[in-house]
Amino acid sequence: MSAKKIEVAKRATDVLRLLKREYPVAICELTHESAFQLLAATILSAQCTDVRVNMVTPALFAAYPTPEKLAVADLAHVEQLVRSTGFYQTKAKNLIGMASQVISRFGGEVPREIEDLVTLPGVGRKTANVLRSVVFGLPGLPVDTHVGRLSRRLGLTKLEDPVKVEYELNAMLPPPEWGEFSLRLILHGRRVCDARTPRCEMCLLESLCPSSMLPTKKPGKKSAGKTVTKKPAKKLAPAKPSKKPVGAKAKKATKKATKKTKARKK
Ligand code: SF4
Repeated sequence: MSAKKIEVAKRATDVLRLLKREYPVAICELTHESAFQLLAATILSAQCTDVRVNMVTPALFAAYPTPEKLAVADLAHVEQLVRSTGFYQTKAKNLIGMASQVISRFGGEVPREIEDLVTLPGVGRKTANVLRSVVFGLPGLPVDTHVGRLSRRLGLTKLEDPVKVEYELNAMLPPPEWGEFSLRLILHGRRVCDARTPRCEMCLLESLCPSSMLPTKKPGKKSAGKTVTKKPAKKLAPAKPSKKPVGAKAKKATKKATKKTKARKK
């Protein structure tokens, strides 16, 4: 392994350790009570927030609590129920197709193997890994938009393809940690490392993040005590000095102006 790869793997381990300390409880924010419900909720979460999905699923699961019921559902009714999650026509079709195949091919039980999960309608590697790690307690590292963005900012990968990012991260972390590492990165992405405005000043990963926007102190023989700037932080433009006098000066100026006016009148 090259020195660079060893350094990146060490950083991944440090990120994992710090995130565990910051977010001791890593939970999936999609409300569910079974593998089938989590599978349906994760299909709905594509291009949609977990909050929105959680608003929709109570009515969906009340109407169609099992794969058997959802498999024979009226498409128009399912569309109506999931409409607010976006791409509702495709999602409704995938939900019914998923339920139908879970019954016909897997005896009504959601499969555990990634190779089986990804054959279901609307299920990609991300969804399959959510199921494996959250419900079945198996190794699985879902790479969503937060995980991809943070992994790149933290210098753990340069790749954009979520599947390639998943393989890179998998190689650096122990399999039992994969699922919760993903959940913790998602939490950190939502709370601190925002896509547009990362809050580096309050980030616990700042000292090891190559994308930090803050100046940082690096101890060492040559740079001891010196401030090393990773990237120049954006400075606010200085306020323009006001031409109008303020406070006591203002009173003086007003008095002077009044005197002048009076003198001219005389
Ligand atoms: S230091 Fe900034 S860019 Fe790096 S992970 Fe933290 S918030 Fe994101």
